[in-house]
Amino acid sequence: MTNTEIAQTLDAYAGLLDLAGAGHYTVRAYRRAAELVRETRAPIAELVRAGRIRELRGIGPGIERRLQELVATGRLAELEELERDVEPQLVALGRLVGLGPQRMVALGKELGIHTADDLRAAAQAGRLREARGIGPHTERKIIAGLARERPQRRRGLLLNRARALADAIARELDADVAGEVRRWRDVVYELALVSSAPDALERLERSPTVVAIVEREANRAVGVTVEGIPVELTTADAASFGTALLRATGSPAYVAALEPLPRAATEEELYAQLGLPWCPPELREQPLTGVPPQLVELDDIRGDLHCHTTWSDGKASVEEMALAARERGYGYVAICDHTPNVRVVPGLDADALRRQGEEIAAVNESLAPFRVLRGTECDIRADGSLDLPDDVLAELDWVQLSLHAGQRQDAESLTRKVVEAMRHPAVRCLSHPKGRIINHRPPNALQLEHVLEVALEEGVALETNGLPDRLDLRDEEVRLAVEAGVSIVCSTDAHSVRGLGNMQLSVATARRGWASAADVLNTRGLDEVLGLRRR
Ligand SMILES: [Zn+2]
Ligand SMILES: [Zn+2]
Repeated sequence: MTNTEIAQTLDAYAGLLDLAGAGHYTVRAYRRAAELVRETRAPIAELVRAGRIRELRGIGPGIERRLQELVATGRLAELEELERDVEPQLVALGRLVGLGPQRMVALGKELGIHTADDLRAAAQAGRLREARGIGPHTERKIIAGLARERPQRRRGLLLNRARALADAIARELDADVAGEVRRWRDVVYELALVSSAPDALERLERSPTVVAIVEREANRAVGVTVEGIPVELTTADAASFGTALLRATGSPAYVAALEPLPRAATEEELYAQLGLPWCPPELREQPLTGVPPQLVELDDIRGDLHCHTTWSDGKASVEEMALAARERGYGYVAICDHTPNVRVVPGLDADALRRQGEEIAAVNESLAPFRVLRGTECDIRADGSLDLPDDVLAELDWVQLSLHAGQRQDAESLTRKVVEAMRHPAVRCLSHPKGRIINHRPPNALQLEHVLEVALEEGVALETNGLPDRLDLRDEEVRLAVEAGVSIVCSTDAHSVRGLGNMQLSVATARRGWASAADVLNTRGLDEVLGLRRR
């Protein structure tokens, strides 16, 4: 068994455990194990056989036992049992049409429904209302859901999870990822793939990730993952692959403005036939016919200006973070641990920050010319003052501000407080300005226009935070900042070595906001970043 196959089985098992109501931590342990297996270069099957699998961090005895069974027999008996009990097909369909797992499984039992076709037939025959607890409202909801007229309030997937899922299915089907994922949308409601493999549709039906097929046509099918996320697959011959890819990438409004589309094997060819320059998918939300700007690229990034260490709530030491940043080809990294006001996690006061400074100096000595910057993610206190004394702030290379409380405050008080803090001469950047947590907390009421004015005046940059549940500033807000001439900082807010990988998400968000390399501060060398110090 390959690592990919093992990871898929673990993922499927995690999904089923989730449906069966297993504890959050159990489910997460299996998801993490799947990720770990996917990332490990050595063959997992051999490690299992050699009894060495526990050497990988995060593999406990329970997971080891199941891996042994999987490697020895190619199967997981518990997974098959779960599949019989929880009917993942039905649960996925339920999520697609907006019914909870228990209700959907009950409906299935009552009306003998097992597949999307059964459900559609029952709806067409008007039989849904025969079932207990299904009124006209729910009936309409189910019919609309089957037609994928989804209510927007349904939770979408975070971009990182959506990308992993889309990539995994694309590998199974020999397909290209299109749709919202290719456009790097912050929240993904639907996956789209294009394949020219002759048996791609059959492979979609057999995919362990896709648990139910809801639509089927000659060159198109829609499946649903266990999360209830639709996966639309289009097949195209090689000669029209580019056309199919552009259509599947969307957005619908963007594509409609280009129609009628000629047949082309690649997107590049297609754009050439239309007499247009190729357009990066990130800019395809709205019709765009002019010449797209030269957007910032991941390779332009020369350092990460926001990461944490074990001094506050990070998982790696200063040295480990520095080595990992250097490994990525960066020239610098800023250590920005929390300050005491953050409360929910350990924060550094002036003394601790100075002790950390000694550690940073030692690391700098051994890693030169790579530079570790002494930084802080300094809380803005309730009265708008900074959470560190001025003398220690003045010693630091990189001071960025954050609000971690009071996100529900009214626009005026919140803006006044933030703007006052931004006027402190040590401040270089405002971190995750809108404070949203995708799917959990709406953006705060901060008046961005006013913040941009002050940022411009004071030479303060605004961050595009790369944590998948933040992506803050978001695309449209980045665009406002860029138009205002305010610098953007693409940061990861990494709490681990792996977290540094979220730079891709931050850069994509900046690209969606039309940022060029010149708009992004950390595309510049360290001298320039530090030389821009105000006053
Ligand atoms: Zn923060
Ligand atoms: Zn942070």
